Amino acid sequence: MSLLMRMIQEPFFQAKRILVIDQSAKTNNDRTWCFWETNPGIFEPVVRHHWEKVNFFSSDFSKTLDLFPYQYKMISGIDLYTFVKTETAKHSNIEWITDTILSFDGKEKVNVVTATEIFTASFVFNSILFREPAAIDAKDKNYYLKQHFKGWEIEAERNCFDPGVATYMDFRLAQDKGTTFMYVLPVSKTKALVEYTLFSENLLADEEYTIALQKYIDEELKIEKYSITHIESGVIPMTNQRFSLQVGNMVNIGIAGGQVKPSSGYAFRFIQQRAENIIRELVTGAHRFSERSFSDKKFHLYDSVLLQVLYHNKMKGEKIFSDIFRKNSAELVFRFLDNQTSILEDLRIMQSVPTHIFLPAALKEMVNKIG
Ligand SMILES: Cc1cc2nc3c(=O)[nH]c(=O)nc-3n(C[C@H](O)[C@H](O)[C@H](O)COP(=O)(O)OP(=O)(O)OC[C@H]3O[C@@H](n4cnc5c(N)ncnc54)[C@H](O)[C@@H]3O)c2cc1C
Repeated sequence: MSLLMRMIQEPFFQAKRILVIDQSAKTNNDRTWCFWETNPGIFEPVVRHHWEKVNFFSSDFSKTLDLFPYQYKMISGIDLYTFVKTETAKHSNIEWITDTILSFDGKEKVNVVTATEIFTASFVFNSILFREPAAIDAKDKNYYLKQHFKGWEIEAERNCFDPGVATYMDFRLAQDKGTTFMYVLPVSKTKALVEYTLFSENLLADEEYTIALQKYIDEELKIEKYSITHIESGVIPMTNQRFSLQVGNMVNIGIAGGQVKPSSGYAFRFIQQRAENIIRELVTGAHRFSERSFSDKKFHLYDSVLLQVLYHNKMKGEKIFSDIFRKNSAELVFRFLDNQTSILEDLRIMQSVPTHIFLPAALKEMVNKIG
């Protein structure tokens, strides 16, 4: 939808026939996106709420962070889906069908085999992850954690929240099952999305997320009476395994195109950037859909280092994030997490974490890359 929205806005695509195939009619509010940006993006009309300040809590460091020039933004899945579908309906060159894709084949012309038909296209942009990343490549150079979470949107009977400040990470929770924290995303004085999130190899039993949410709302937020107005959950792959970007004229996008930042699980902004790049490549006719820049390689190395440290439990995620936020401005940290910092700025971030843990980890990753 991010790519489609940009095709709608770019005159070059007016003369193209575009087919969207999705097995889902996209009528459910199945996810909430949060991300940070400095300027309004193409989905600004559906931003539900934004914050200029966020709280960071850990057992030994807590601070309200001023995000300027960033805003932390929230979009409800259903609002984005409805927005894109409404825009799509205005364009007769775009057709949308609900069908299940079974496979692709062909290189120059790509055949898309669905449950009912075979379509042929000059370019196919694929966001289906047919296989779980662990099954793609399980060598010991690669680390695979899952970011898994359950969120409740709650409505309290009394004013309990400050809608001007979100909680970006609250680590004041047991850390024995992996890196564990809560998000609290208040959209009004009485309503907030509270999300229990872990980075670990294994998922929890469903009731464990429920118990953690109940306990946090009771004991930390101290809210006695509330109703749950929306529930969502998800699992996002956090891995340094390289995803295939392109097979012939089939170009992978979204999670299937490796657009999740391996060390944070954030994907929304990276998906937007990839969509912008693809549009540029199509319009100019250059069609370079799988080149990796120096910056991409640099941040992939950093992500591998951090994943290695987390995967092998060489240092707790809580301590890493609190060291980084304690010693750097939020603006620098968010820019680093966005893969936008210079090498000098990277060094400043790196000085925030213990060299005796991170240097050997970095050396191992550099050797892996050469090997
Ligand atoms: C609950 C949840 C919350 C998230 N929150 C954030 C967040 O706050 N910030 C952030 O940066 N990232 C977040 N993410 C991660 C990421 O941004 C989203 O998962 C994003 O939607 C990924 O986009 P995508 O295009 O890869 O996949 P999707 O948005 O899942 O789109 C894939 C589409 O393919 C369709 N499909 C799948 N298989 C087939 C098939 N065989 N045939 C036809 N259609 C098929 C699906 O119906 C779906 O519409 C979240 C993920 C989840 C699950």
